Amino acid sequence: MGVKRKHVTAERCKISTGLVPIILYIAMAIVTASAAKAQDQPPSPFAGTHGTVAIDPGHGGKDVGSRGNAGTTEKEICLAIARELTHRLEPTYRVVLTRSDDYDIPLVERTAIANHHRADLFISIHTGASYLRNTEGMGIYHYQPAARTAAAPSPPNTTLPLWHQAQMAHSNASQTLAASLRQSLVQLADRPTVRTIAAPLSVLQGADMPAVIIEVGYLTHPSTEEALRSAEYQAALAKAIAKGVERYYATSLRHER
Ligand SMILES: [Zn+2]
Repeated sequence: MGVKRKHVTAERCKISTGLVPIILYIAMAIVTASAAKAQDQPPSPFAGTHGTVAIDPGHGGKDVGSRGNAGTTEKEICLAIARELTHRLEPTYRVVLTRSDDYDIPLVERTAIANHHRADLFISIHTGASYLRNTEGMGIYHYQPAARTAAAPSPPNTTLPLWHQAQMAHSNASQTLAASLRQSLVQLADRPTVRTIAAPLSVLQGADMPAVIIEVGYLTHPSTEEALRSAEYQAALAKAIAKGVERYYATSLRHER
């Protein structure tokens, strides 16, 4: 046995030694090809028309967000859906995640990251919570400044930093994005009720691109919590959101650019 093994080993060594220059050549060719491919990113047929999508998984770290009766936390569901959505979008879009793991970041930093990367869209993912266990459905929020009355007039603009008003320029596009996402989400197998809601949400205020917050369901609703925990439903949600993004680009951005 020992002799035979020695022979085989020697034989392998011989072959390996002879192949070294060839293997090195192939490896160099692969590295060169990869480098060329990397320079050509993105390889999608939509390159140049489809851009960067910022995905913001809500909460994180000590900030768990809402919690379901079975102990599911909002932060973990948001991250799982965001990761799934990244996989769905990445072949076509450049994706920027405001957080890629379980840590917290301040609200203003989330839109600042999107602005820094010159994202074309900002999609924040959250779940809903209610004291009433039977409250269900989804909500897609887009920014609208708080209504001013004669008794509470608008403060002079000079008191606000300019970036605080960044979302104002995109309010129509954000509304269109919300509608596009809604059209896809209502087609999910469980046919959820999806509302689009205009609200003065500070998290969206500084986003210098069309921006929405999607509440993908109430964690406090027992069967919704169960669904949101399943990888299958998370994938279905991500697929629907990705379709909504596609619809938005197809119907809206093309005309704006
Ligand atoms: Zn939340």
